[in-house]
Amino acid sequence: MAQIVVFSLVLTTAAVFFLNGCLRLLRLLKLGKPEERSDRIGSRIRNVLTVAFGQRKLLREPLAGLMHFFIFWGFVILLSAILETIIEGFAPAFSLRFLGPLFAPLAALQELVGILVVISCLAALARWYFVPPKRYFGPEITGHVRHDATLILCLILIIIFSMFGTFATHMALGGDWSQARFLSVHMAPIFSAPAATLWYAIFWWVHILVVFGFMNYLPYSKHLHILTSVPNVFFTSLKPRGQLNKLDLEDDAAEKFGAEDIRDFSWKQLLDGFTCTDCGRCTSVCPANQTGKMLSPRKIIMNIRQRTTEIGPFLLAGTTGSHPDLLAHRLLDNFIGEQELWACTTCRACMEECPVNIEHVPAIVDMRRFLVLSESRFPGELTGTFKNLESNYTPWAFSHETRADWADGLDVKTMAACGGENVDLLYWVGCAGSYDRRYQKVSQAMVKLLNTAGIRFAILGTEEKCNGDPARRAGNEYLAQMLITENVETLNRYKVRKIVATCPHCFNTLKNEYPQFGGNYEVLHHTELLQGLVRTGRLKVAQEAGKQITFHDSCYIGRYNGIYDAPRNLLEASGGKLLEMARSRDRGFCCGAGGARMFMEEREGKRVNIERTEEALKLQPDMIATACPFCMTMLADGLKAKDADERVHVRDVAEILADSIS
Ligand code: SF4
Ligand code: SF4
Repeated sequence: MAQIVVFSLVLTTAAVFFLNGCLRLLRLLKLGKPEERSDRIGSRIRNVLTVAFGQRKLLREPLAGLMHFFIFWGFVILLSAILETIIEGFAPAFSLRFLGPLFAPLAALQELVGILVVISCLAALARWYFVPPKRYFGPEITGHVRHDATLILCLILIIIFSMFGTFATHMALGGDWSQARFLSVHMAPIFSAPAATLWYAIFWWVHILVVFGFMNYLPYSKHLHILTSVPNVFFTSLKPRGQLNKLDLEDDAAEKFGAEDIRDFSWKQLLDGFTCTDCGRCTSVCPANQTGKMLSPRKIIMNIRQRTTEIGPFLLAGTTGSHPDLLAHRLLDNFIGEQELWACTTCRACMEECPVNIEHVPAIVDMRRFLVLSESRFPGELTGTFKNLESNYTPWAFSHETRADWADGLDVKTMAACGGENVDLLYWVGCAGSYDRRYQKVSQAMVKLLNTAGIRFAILGTEEKCNGDPARRAGNEYLAQMLITENVETLNRYKVRKIVATCPHCFNTLKNEYPQFGGNYEVLHHTELLQGLVRTGRLKVAQEAGKQITFHDSCYIGRYNGIYDAPRNLLEASGGKLLEMARSRDRGFCCGAGGARMFMEEREGKRVNIERTEEALKLQPDMIATACPFCMTMLADGLKAKDADERVHVRDVAEILADSIS
């Protein structure tokens, strides 16, 4: 009876502290702005099943993924054993035998999983101390990550050892003797009466107290993700990957646009902070970080958490007034420097890798928006870019009147000339396709291919303006919305239904962001359209003797839109022999130009394009193929810098195909 009273007190205290920890977390999340994340429940559940329970993204690193998989599932299964032990606190003779035929398999599973968890924990500890993954020891990651992991792994080991001890001594005392408990049954004879009674009490109390301690440590540790990762995955954005949220610039009540501190983020962005496992996977694939820039996506997310934990309790208590030092600080500048934010190429590698679906890019763009829209702070080079976009509708200093000059002599129709009649497709040329001398050749190759395939197409000519991507990713939402709205008005006037674009940035914005502004079209990247034309025989490709080609994935067709096979299929169809770089497809390494980085200087560290060019050159290709004007420029510059531009050329997939059609 005395034990039941003591146990009831312990249980109640632990439960109250745990609930208090959870409520504190919920109150902190409510400091964020509201955001709707409860639509399409079926898709959300699917995400939870594959990403959280199936550990899909963790398994991208097979060894670490498998260890985590066993620890996670072990814990889920061992919850039944923990529940059993808690019930024994009230009813010492309790047994799971009431489950009938399910008892033996469950008991055997508990034993098996217990052994696997021990092996996984020991392997994880050995890995931490003898072969730590490089990603944990970047310049900004300190030993606290290892200490926290060690503490958690040791607590788990104690929980498992005490569980086996409880099972064995329980059997020694005459309870639940079953061969299904295949390990405990061999341990039981070690504990003969009367010592078994004492050992049972020791194991049972150790087990219970460590479980309760673990539970209450979680809300304050890096392992908080044990509680938050499932909800975080459930509330993952289901919008198209390439769509940034639209700011309501007409909102007179808005005090500011963008994010400078935690209250400017949504509750989900704050939850991201509390879900970060500190694993460093995002930073280990970040092109900016890996070439020596200050940016670390892991740090950005951890900074959001730190600042929320620092000021949140005072905001909730309404006592910030008595802590002027806290108010004098903010997330931007005091935690996250602008240099970090401007280094981001928005390549999405961090989000692709994050095992708990944290959304770094929207947070970075929100802070860029604040810098640009509220404080007019941005790299000097962007002043000219914004000016050009405003007056020439292109990031460069070219006259708008010359936008269609690239097509002189090619007999290309404009929408204005044909009134949109007898046109199957609008060819969206883009700024690079219109003005960049090198990339104009790709536009000309596209004209040849479309004409050969008998596609009735037209261009907008001088009615086409920059699609808005560089302004939007640079945080200038005003300028982006102006360009997008004007383009949508033009496209809708001609009742355009189908568009093909060669530039992945144009393609992504037209496809995923124009619907936010009333522009709904079927948008294809040129590699998708050309693949269809080759497959249906409308383009007949003559296979040339195989050149060794390596294809560089553009982030905006690859990670943002899942197009990986179309360009590769076209290269193979034209006789190319494909060589894959170590980082390719969804792990492709950015060229360094996305997120308006194309228009900024790269002063810190190694140039991203040099890193990528070196990776390509390792394969000794005859050619580097691209499907993006920015990638083409960056890699061509890289080849020049490496003195390799005479022997290796960068060509767009459309050019290679145009040369091989009969
Ligand atoms: S989007 Fe790319 S560049 Fe930006 S933080 Fe993520 S990995 Fe780094
Ligand atoms: S943001 Fe994701 S990938 Fe990056 S450290 Fe946190 S959990 Fe790991």
